[in-house]
Amino acid sequence: MITMKRVRKTYPNGVQALNGMNIHIDKGEFVYVVGPSGAGKTTFIKLMIRELKPSEGLIQINGNNLGDLSDKQIPYLRRKIGVVFQDFKLFTKLSVYENIAFALEVIEEEPEQIKTKVMDVLDIVGLKSKARFNTSELSGGEKQRIAIARAIVNQPAILIADEPTGNLDPETAWSIMGTLEEINNRGTTIVMATHNSHIVNTLKKRVIAIENGKVVRDELGGSYGYQA
Ligand code: ADP
Ligand code: ADP
Repeated sequence: MITMKRVRKTYPNGVQALNGMNIHIDKGEFVYVVGPSGAGKTTFIKLMIRELKPSEGLIQINGNNLGDLSDKQIPYLRRKIGVVFQDFKLFTKLSVYENIAFALEVIEEEPEQIKTKVMDVLDIVGLKSKARFNTSELSGGEKQRIAIARAIVNQPAILIADEPTGNLDPETAWSIMGTLEEINNRGTTIVMATHNSHIVNTLKKRVIAIENGKVVRDELGGSYGYQA
């Protein structure tokens, strides 16, 4: 499903952010990506969604070599990969409904399908009653649920979460984990970069640790392994 072989990324200023990454993640897995600040986690995520191109090496998503994708094909890749961020990245002037519908409008989904699909994902994240709210009227946890709903509305095979609980209080963070687990149980592969040692050490999953742009540890049911 996700394969990286000997991937290197050197930024224009000469920083080698990834330094020979090898990774294989299978369909249906739930993986935490951990490591100290500056280790290369965000670079790793940006390469998977083709926000960046590798300097060297091979990246395959669902059997497609990202190196072979033209810029025109990138929207099709993005349909297979949903992404959520620490800071939600919602459109603050739009309603909850419009934020999610937008992800379907850009791929020219049929109008009658849009309503059904938006309400279906709002149901999954437990916020059907907030469809007409403006996003500014939501709590942090609710905003993250809407960001997750938007990320999964195209039924992507993979959901990538970059510090999804980073801005949330512990209780809300746990409830977001419940939602991510439910999405994973429906078959979506989840890759989550996190600094939340309590979650990683309690809700045991595969842990991939990155340091200096390389995988230094890869364990099923692993622990966080760094000072919190
Ligand atoms: P992490 O997400 O684990 O904190 P990053 O992938 O953000 O790590 O960063 C890895 C390394 O690449 C760091 O040394 C960082 O300073 C550097 N870096 C990140 N983005 C850029 C950029 N746009 N230009 C130059 N260097 C960068
Ligand atoms: P949901 O609301 O989807 O039922 P929860 O938010 O209750 O899910 O919890 C998600 C997962 O995190 C579950 O596996 C649950 O057992 C675990 N969990 C929830 N709260 C805590 C906590 N405070 N400490 C440890 N594990 C927790």
